[in-house]
Amino acid sequence: MANSIVTLDEIKKLVTDVFLKQGCNKKNANALANTITKAEEDGSSSHGLFRVPGYVASLKSGKVNGNASPKLEKITPVILKCDADNGFASTAHEFSLPKLVDAAKTNGVAVLSIKGCYHFAALWPETEYLAQQNLVGFACTAFKPSVAPAGAKEAFFGTNPISMAWPRNGQDPVVFDMATATMAKGEVMIAARDGHPLPDGVGLDENGKPSNDPTEILKGVLLPFGGYKGSAISLMVELFSAGLTGDVFSYEAQENDNNDGGPPSGGEFIMALNPEIISNPNWEEHCTNFFQKLTSIDGVRLPGSRRHKNRSGDNYRSINEELLLKVRSYL
Ligand code: NDP
Repeated sequence: MANSIVTLDEIKKLVTDVFLKQGCNKKNANALANTITKAEEDGSSSHGLFRVPGYVASLKSGKVNGNASPKLEKITPVILKCDADNGFASTAHEFSLPKLVDAAKTNGVAVLSIKGCYHFAALWPETEYLAQQNLVGFACTAFKPSVAPAGAKEAFFGTNPISMAWPRNGQDPVVFDMATATMAKGEVMIAARDGHPLPDGVGLDENGKPSNDPTEILKGVLLPFGGYKGSAISLMVELFSAGLTGDVFSYEAQENDNNDGGPPSGGEFIMALNPEIISNPNWEEHCTNFFQKLTSIDGVRLPGSRRHKNRSGDNYRSINEELLLKVRSYL
C-alpha cells in the first residue's frame, strides 16, 4: 500500500484524540502522543504510529491504566523510585525526569527506578532530555523473551534497549539508543510488513536455522548484536531493569502478560550524571576537542545525528496508508 503525507501537528492531534477516545485522560494521552510524535519527527518509524495498535490493545484489554498518576519516593537524596501506577512509561517520564535532573544537579549523580510501567517506545527521549539539561544520561529497560542468549536457540532476553546521551555546548547532544538484539523487533515487523529481506545475523527461524526472512524470524528468535558481547550487555540490561529496580525480568514479564499485543509491564532504570560536579572545569572544551577529532575522520558520524537531521527538516512525514487508516479507525 502507498504512503500518505501528514504533518507532525496532524499526527500529534490524531494520536491524542485516539488515546482520549480509548480511555486515557488528558495527561496520559498527551504524554504518549508526545512520545509518538517525537519518534515520527526523528524518523524512528518503528516506534511512532506503528506502536499505536499495541497501545490501544493494552487500553482496550484494561492492562494499562490510561488514567495513571505516578508517584515518586525519594529513598535518599540520589535514589528516586517512581511507581508508574500501571500506566505508560511516557507519563512516568514527564512526571519524574525533572526530579531526577534536580537531584543530579545538586548531588552530581542520581538514579531513578521506574516500576510498573508499560514501555514500547524508543529510549532516546529520556536520555536526550537529560543531556539537554547538561547531564549525562543512561537508560535501559527489558521486554519479553525475544532474543536467544549467546550459544542458545531459544528466546530468553528481551530486545533490551540501552541508551546513553552526552551533552554538548550549543550543539545537539550525542545520543545512542539501540536494541541489544541485532535489530529492534519493531524493525523486523516492519520488514515483514513491507516484504524486505534482512541481513545475515538478525535471527533464526522456528527450527533454529539462520534466516533472512523477517516473517520466519518472527516465528523463531532474534539474536543479540555482536555475539556473546551483546548477549552480556543484554544480560546486564535485565539486571538493571529488574534486579535493580525490583521489577520483572523479561521471562517474568511474559508470564504476567495477557498477550494483547501491547507492551508488557516492567521496570526502567535511568541514571543522570553531572559532569559539572564530577569532571574538571574544562570538561566541555576537552570533550568538544574529542568530538572534533572523531568526526574529522572520514566516514565517521555521531550516533543520533541521523535523527537530529530528520528533526531539523520540514514538518511533513510519509506514513504507511494502511497504518494511518488503522489508527484513524480508533477514533
Ligand atoms: P539502530 O541499529 O537503528 O541504531 C542504534 C544506534 O546506532 C542509534 O543511536 C543510531 O543513531 C546509531 N547509529 C546507526 N548507524 C550509525 C553509524 N553509521 N554511525 C554512528 N552511529 C550510528 O537501532 P535499533 O534498531 O537497535 O533500535 C531502534 C529503537 O528501538 C531504539 O530507539 C530502541 O530504544 C528501540 N527499542 C525499544 C524497545 C522497548 O522495549 N522499549 C525494545 C527494543 C528496541 P541514529 O539514530 O542517528 O541513526
